[in-house]
Amino acid sequence: MPELPEVETIRTQLNRLMAGKKIKKVQVSLPKMVKLSLVEFKKIILGAKIKCLARRAKILIIELSNGWSLLIHLKLSGRLIFRQKNEKLQDQDKKWNHLIYWFSDGSRLFHNDLRQFGYVKAVKTDKLVDFFEKEKLGPEPLDKDFALDDFAAILRKRPKAKIKQFLMDPKNIAGIGNIYSDEILFFARIHPLHRVEDLKSDEIKKIFQGIKKILSEALTLRGSSDNDYLDARGQEGEYVSHLKVYGREGQRCKKCSGFVQRLKISGRSAHFCPKCQKL
Ligand SMILES: [Zn+2]
Repeated sequence: MPELPEVETIRTQLNRLMAGKKIKKVQVSLPKMVKLSLVEFKKIILGAKIKCLARRAKILIIELSNGWSLLIHLKLSGRLIFRQKNEKLQDQDKKWNHLIYWFSDGSRLFHNDLRQFGYVKAVKTDKLVDFFEKEKLGPEPLDKDFALDDFAAILRKRPKAKIKQFLMDPKNIAGIGNIYSDEILFFARIHPLHRVEDLKSDEIKKIFQGIKKILSEALTLRGSSDNDYLDARGQEGEYVSHLKVYGREGQRCKKCSGFVQRLKISGRSAHFCPKCQKL
C-alpha cells in the first residue's frame, strides 16, 4: 500500500503537472470507486480548473477552482499516472483503468487500481477541516511542528499497544504503514512486539529520529515499489534497494550475521532482525 513517501511523491509530481489545467472530460469505467453519483461527480469536475494538490495522511486532495476538492485514496494498489498529449502510453497505463481524466490541453490522468479498494470523494473545500476532523488522524510525521514531545505524549495514550501496531495506526501518526514501520523499528533497534509502556526515553527518541529519517529518505527516492506502486510518471520508486528488513524474510541482515524474520501481528506482517531487535 502506498504510504506517506509514495503519496507525497505523487502529490508533488501531479501538483507540478496538473495545476492550472482544466478538466474537459472524464471516463468512469468502475462507478463504485466514485463515492457520489456520477451525474453529481461530472457536474462538479467538468470545466473546473485544478488549483493545487495537497495531502493529509495517505489521502490526496485535488483542490478545484470551483470550491470543491476531490479526495483520492489509493488504498492497496491504486496508481495515478499522468501523460502529456503526445506522450506514448506504456502498457501499465492501460491496465485496470477505472477513471480517466482528460484536460483541455490533451493531457490525461489515469487512475488505475488492480484490487479496486481505492476511492474518489468530493468535499467542499471549506468543509475539508470538518472532514479530516471526523477521521481523527494523528499528526503528519514530517511536519516541522511534530516534535519528540508530541510523539512521547501520543505514546503515553496507548501504553498497552505493541509498537509496530502503534506506528501503523493513522489515529496515532498519519501515513506510516507496513513498510516504513518495519524500517523505522529496525533503525531504532526495537522489536516490533515491544510494548509502548516498556519503552525507555532513549528508545522513544531513537524511534522518533527513525520516523523523520526513514520517511524523508524514502521520499527523496520517490518511495518503494515493492509490488504495485508506481509514481505519477509511471516510474518505480527507488527506495526498495535501501530497505533493510521489509520484504527480506530469510535473507541476511544488512547489519549483523543474523537472518531477517517475519511474524504476524493481527493479520499484518512484521519483518525484523532478531539479533538487532531484541524483545
Ligand atoms: Zn541484524
